[in-house]
Amino acid sequence: MIDTHVHLNDKRYENRADDIVAGFPAAGLSAAVNIAYDRPSAEHALAQAQKYAPVYCALGVHPHDSKEYTDADGDYFLLKSKDPKTVAIGEIGLDYHYDLSPRPAQREAFIKQLHIADKAGLPVIIHLREAAGEMLDLLQAHKSLYSHGLVLHCFSESREYAREVLNLGAYISFAGPLTFKKAEKTAEVARFVPADRYLIETDCPYLTPEPHRGETNEPAYVRFVAEKLSVLRGVPFAQIEQETTENAEAIFKKLNIDGRGKMVG
Ligand SMILES: [Zn+2]
Ligand SMILES: [Zn+2]
Repeated sequence: MIDTHVHLNDKRYENRADDIVAGFPAAGLSAAVNIAYDRPSAEHALAQAQKYAPVYCALGVHPHDSKEYTDADGDYFLLKSKDPKTVAIGEIGLDYHYDLSPRPAQREAFIKQLHIADKAGLPVIIHLREAAGEMLDLLQAHKSLYSHGLVLHCFSESREYAREVLNLGAYISFAGPLTFKKAEKTAEVARFVPADRYLIETDCPYLTPEPHRGETNEPAYVRFVAEKLSVLRGVPFAQIEQETTENAEAIFKKLNIDGRGKMVG
């Protein structure tokens, strides 16, 4: 499996990152994508990706931190997008639940980073919370800026919304909340999404899935998201593993698992 959204760069893992990555094979993980949320976390995510073979990274400024975004950050992401371990720009987007940055600043940083992704030739990883209509408008208005693909991470919108973003070429990524009891809306999306367009993630250290809810999340727990998908989609666990791995390799073209990636040969 590939955990397509981790924050191994979080302070909570400061002394545990070596052990967590060493545990990947036992957890059935072949890779993880380490996601930035601001400039320092981007530098840290890249350094960890360079240190650990199965760790890749995405560079970007989260909507929460959009008010701090500068063009120098964009230049840095573009420069470091050339690193073989940088597979995406993200996480970027809109979060109108917490509104930690003013909404105009969120929109501006989002669009500027779409331009960075386009110049870098990389897919984008989108964080979206309580801004679904506006996100759809922005995506429809800027189609040329994500021709290298997009992922809606920790998808929590409706099936109708899923249909809209699938039509724009998006991949839909499922996280721990899919395992929660009150996840019927997301469960419906999980049953409906085409086999070639879904991904799995933990978003660790956040969003710990059942049965570990309340503990610090970690990449190994992506298994519980995959198990829930297996039940909801009515297919064997091994098929979920295979489909999500193939899909991750399709969207993140620079992933190079066991030397069989597209960058080699
Ligand atoms: Zn997020
Ligand atoms: Zn995240």
